[in-house]
Amino acid sequence: MITLPRRRQGTGVMRDWLLILLLGLSFGGGLGGPARAADWTTPAEQSGFRTTPSYADTVAYLERLQKQAPGRIHLGTYGVSPQGRPMAVVVANSNGVFTPEAARAARLPVVLVQAGIHPGEIEGKDAGLMLLRDVAATGKLQHLLDHAVLVFIPVFSVDGHENFSPYNRINQNGPDSMGFRGQSQYLNLNRDNIKADTPEMRAWLKLWQYWRPDLLIDVHTTDGADYQYDLTWYLEDPHKLDAGVSLWQQQAMASVIPAYEKRGHLASIYLEFKDGSDPRKGLENFGSGPRFSTGYAALQNRAGLLIETHMMKPYATRVRAAYDLVALMLDYAGRDAASLLETNARADAATIARASDSSAHVALTFKSDPASTPFSLKGYAFTQTPSQISGGTWIQYDQTKPETYVIPNWNGLLPDRMATLPAAYAVPAQWKDIIARLDAHGIAYRRLDCAAKVAAMGYQLDNPKWSSQPFEGHLMLEQVEAGLQPRQEILPPGSVIVPLDQPSANIAVELLEPDAPDCLLRWGFLDAVFETKEYGEPRVLEKLARDMLAKDPALKAEFERKLRDDPTFANPRARLSFFFQRSPWFAAQKVGAYPVLRLDKSVMPSCN
Ligand SMILES: [Zn+2]
Repeated sequence: MITLPRRRQGTGVMRDWLLILLLGLSFGGGLGGPARAADWTTPAEQSGFRTTPSYADTVAYLERLQKQAPGRIHLGTYGVSPQGRPMAVVVANSNGVFTPEAARAARLPVVLVQAGIHPGEIEGKDAGLMLLRDVAATGKLQHLLDHAVLVFIPVFSVDGHENFSPYNRINQNGPDSMGFRGQSQYLNLNRDNIKADTPEMRAWLKLWQYWRPDLLIDVHTTDGADYQYDLTWYLEDPHKLDAGVSLWQQQAMASVIPAYEKRGHLASIYLEFKDGSDPRKGLENFGSGPRFSTGYAALQNRAGLLIETHMMKPYATRVRAAYDLVALMLDYAGRDAASLLETNARADAATIARASDSSAHVALTFKSDPASTPFSLKGYAFTQTPSQISGGTWIQYDQTKPETYVIPNWNGLLPDRMATLPAAYAVPAQWKDIIARLDAHGIAYRRLDCAAKVAAMGYQLDNPKWSSQPFEGHLMLEQVEAGLQPRQEILPPGSVIVPLDQPSANIAVELLEPDAPDCLLRWGFLDAVFETKEYGEPRVLEKLARDMLAKDPALKAEFERKLRDDPTFANPRARLSFFFQRSPWFAAQKVGAYPVLRLDKSVMPSCN
């Protein structure tokens, strides 16, 4: 039984025609008047795929589709961009299932397809318009969304999309003009999934929490090498997500890719070459991670597919590639709905159950598996010329000479740094930016309404090293040593207790564990904990040093060793600091004490 939406139903045929006529008039300038009113050619098709439409024209086309088929297409917004543009989202289903509640009641999987996270790579938008048109207007894909709900973001980075230029994608073969990779604050949305700095990402996270989609498809265009494939695709390494979800997505691709190639395409796994000037040296994993969309989906126990159409292929070919693969994935998700929903439910349940296993641990970072497998690369013949300009090697491909190379593939990853899991984290009330990030991700927590004394474990952070160059607006903490120590703390009222028995527990771990590559500490949200706020005057430290040397022979020996061996000890301030840093006056500042605490089940603070 499908719950029908709140929208009105049963638009009559006559009424549709009237609507089309009216629309034909309102869109008459571009479409040539009422005689061509039923023309559903998309803007990109109209230009012969020379151009891609503006955001306004994209939304106008979607509005036409909604008016044509209000029982199949629902156009809404889910946020506002930094420059004030409404962020459009389309929900599409054959039977008007337009809400998560209705999708759950009907046991339909929700597939989130996003285009234009990198708005210069915009095939997904134009393919999406064609696909929705064929679902809603032409009837060509009449049954595609009988058994799945499509949530489609036509342009994720809307401000970036409107920053149109022919010069935004130097590596890419058309369209004539396209959007810019950064949004209007120069941030790359496909690095923002965890830190969630941008209004766009915060809106997206709310959309994610509202729908909790069963499958994410993120549509991009490649950079990099030339080869025969019109599309490459990427799934997160099996070590990075629930085993059942990983298996589901691998089986999906094993079924969908042959069907895709039957439509005249050629596809490959994502191709990251170890050496861009010599593809024969083999492939490696491009890295991905929680800051990327598919990395985020993996942590949320959801299948995620990254699609990259090949930059050198004509725009028409690339749009068709995205259209066919997305259509086949939607079809597969619908046909395999029961298994997909069951897999996801099981993964969520396993994440919740993991919290009661005190020996549970998760991998935070990954390293390349030293074992490779042979990979048959459908490439092109190429020449390598020593370049007098770069001093390196100039690779030139010959597209008239397809050639297959068997090369080593090191795509496999292995867990590297691991963390055991606490029962919960405690974030003291004053760390509001951290709590705000928990909120952005919809992480469940309990707020203390009293001051609570806890015996917890906390990290002492030492030897921090920051990047000297900003990355995505942050000077990242590149290295830090984190050691766990017992800590007695008083959590002020308003502190939050984040239990790990929740489906999004992996996101909490990623945000809060110091060794996690995208944790808030690494992004620089807690840099102040490394700063000393009080210093010792040299005349005061002179006395302190004498007292300490007199009392502690081991300290005296260490000091004398450094005098002999350490060149930085030529500096009088360095010598005096040696004593200050070993004194209770320094310890009182708690430099490097990570404020987020790890709690055992036995020490959960309570206000009762
Ligand atoms: Zn991209």
